[in-house]
Amino acid sequence: MNKVTWYCPKCEHENIDLLKETATPMCGGCENHFHWEDLAHVGDDLELYLNVIDSMSNVLHGKPACDLMDNHKDATDSMTDDFANSIKASFALQRIALKAGLL
Ligand SMILES: [Zn+2]
Repeated sequence: MNKVTWYCPKCEHENIDLLKETATPMCGGCENHFHWEDLAHVGDDLELYLNVIDSMSNVLHGKPACDLMDNHKDATDSMTDDFANSIKASFALQRIALKAGLL
């Protein structure tokens, strides 16, 4: 899903943005700019977290994160664990790339 509802960590304003078209989403309430990986990191939306990791993976490695590993389930389990432990999306991607032997 490309359309994302997120809540501002500063003022808790509800915002809706398009993940792919918006590099640094801006809060309509307080006009602060954020990075998706910071919003996904503080949010409770696993789908957003996975989407953000995929977007970064597409830029860095040319394919979605779960396609970096031969075993998709291992990749998804790794990211789900990292989400549960509030690991930043960039670190979660780094761990997948390490396991896949890309780093
Ligand atoms: Zn705000």
